[in-house]
Amino acid sequence: MAKVLCVLYDDPVTGYPQSYPRDDIPVIERYPDGQTTPTPKEIGFRPGELLGSVSGELGLRKFLESQGHTLVVTSDKDGPRSTFERELKDADIVISQPFWPAYLTAERFRKARNLKLAITAGIGSDHVDLQAAMEHGVTVAEVTYSNSISVAEHVVMMVLALVRNYLPSHEWVVKGGWNIADCVMRAYDLEGMNVGVVGSGRIGRAVLRRLKPFDVKLHYTDRHRLPEDVERELGLTFHPDVESLVRVCDVVSINVPLHPETEGLFNDELIGKMKRGAYIVNTARAKICDRDAIVRALESGRLAGYAGDVWFPQPPPRNHPWRKMPYEAMTPHVSGSTLSAQARYAAGVREILECWFENRPIRDEYLIVKDGQLAGAGAHSYSAGDTTAGAEEAARFRQRSRRPGEATQQP
Ligand code: NDP
Repeated sequence: MAKVLCVLYDDPVTGYPQSYPRDDIPVIERYPDGQTTPTPKEIGFRPGELLGSVSGELGLRKFLESQGHTLVVTSDKDGPRSTFERELKDADIVISQPFWPAYLTAERFRKARNLKLAITAGIGSDHVDLQAAMEHGVTVAEVTYSNSISVAEHVVMMVLALVRNYLPSHEWVVKGGWNIADCVMRAYDLEGMNVGVVGSGRIGRAVLRRLKPFDVKLHYTDRHRLPEDVERELGLTFHPDVESLVRVCDVVSINVPLHPETEGLFNDELIGKMKRGAYIVNTARAKICDRDAIVRALESGRLAGYAGDVWFPQPPPRNHPWRKMPYEAMTPHVSGSTLSAQARYAAGVREILECWFENRPIRDEYLIVKDGQLAGAGAHSYSAGDTTAGAEEAARFRQRSRRPGEATQQP
C-alpha cells in the first residue's frame, strides 16, 4: 500500500467555501489539438468545487483510502522542519501544484527513500530537480494541457490590462477620483501593435489565436516551427531566435517551460534589445526573467509594464521587489488554477494514479521523466538539469506568516 503525500495551498482565509458563484462549469471533452481531457474511471468531486486547497484534497481521499493507501495533505512545505519534509521520508508518491510548489531538490530526493512517483497537479515540473529524479529512478508526470487555455486567457487579460493601463485607472475609482488624465497618460490601443510569443506550444499558440481578432501583427519564436497553414491562417512572422523577436515587438508573452536553456533568458542584455516602452507578460516561470533586471527596466522606462503570475520562490518573500515595482500588474500564481482548471487537473491526477496502481501505462503526453530519462512531453519540451536552486528562500514567507493570528496566504 502506498503513502501519498499531497501538498496543496491553504484554504481561503474565510474558510472552505460552502457555495460558489456559479452552479456549473462548461464540459470540455477535447483540447484544441484533439487530445482528450482526463479520463479517469471515476472522480470523487463535483466539477466547480475548490479542489486545489488543503480541504479540497484534489478529491482523492475516498479513492485512495478505499484501496488501503494513506493520504497525507499539507500546505506546510518549506524548510527542514516542515510537515512535507517530515512526511517525505517514507512517502511513495508526492503530488504538488506549481501554484504552491513542494520543491523536490536533490537533497530531498536523497531523504525520500521510498519515492517512486512525483505528480504535478497542473503543468510545469520545474519545481522538481529533474536531474535528481532521473538519477533516483523516480517517474515525474504532469497533467499536460489541463490548464493551458486557462493561462492563455489570463495572458490576454494581462496584455490588455498593461496596454490600456487598467489597474491604475481602477484604483482611481476606488480612491473616489475621476482623474481621466492620470489614467490615460499611459493608456494605448492594442490594435496595430506587434505582439510576440516566446514558445509556441499549447499556451503560446492559444495566446496567438486569441489575440488575432485584435488586429495585431503576430510574431513567434520556438525550437520548432509551426505548420505552414497555421502560420498563414494567423498571419504569423517566425523569428529564428528570441533577440530577433524582441527587437520588433511591442508586447512579448513568455510561454516556454523553465529549464536550463531558458533560465535567466530575459536579462539586462536581452531587455536592452527590446523596443523602449515594450510590455512583458510572463505566465511561464519567474526564473526565465532576471528579477532585478525587470525592476531596473521598469524604473528606467525601457519597459512600460510587466505582468505575470509566476514568482520565485513561491510564495515570494514579503519584500520581493516585484510586489512594489512600478507599472506592474502581477497576480499570485493563479492563472492555471481557476475552478475550471482544477476540475481537469484533479481528474488528471486521478487518471495518473489509477494507471499507476493498476500497472497500466501513464499517457505518454503526461510523462516528463521515466526510467531515468526525459520521456513523453518532457523529452519534447525540457532539457536535463536542475532549476530549483534558491527554492529554500520560500521558507522565509512561511516563517514570517506564522505569527499568531496571521493567515499564511495573505501578502
Ligand atoms: P508546451 O510544452 O506545449 O509548450 C512549450 C513550448 O516552448 C514548446 O513549443 C517548446 O518547443 C518551446 N520551448 C522550449 N524550450 C524552448 C527554448 N529554449 N526556446 C524556444 N522555445 C522553447 O507547454 P505549455 O504551452 O502548455 O506550457 C508552457 C509553460 O507554461 C509550462 O512549462 C509552464 O512552465 C507554464 N505554465 C504556467 C501555468 C500558470 O498557471 N501560470 C500553467 C501551465 C503552464 P518544442 O516543444 O517545439 O521543442
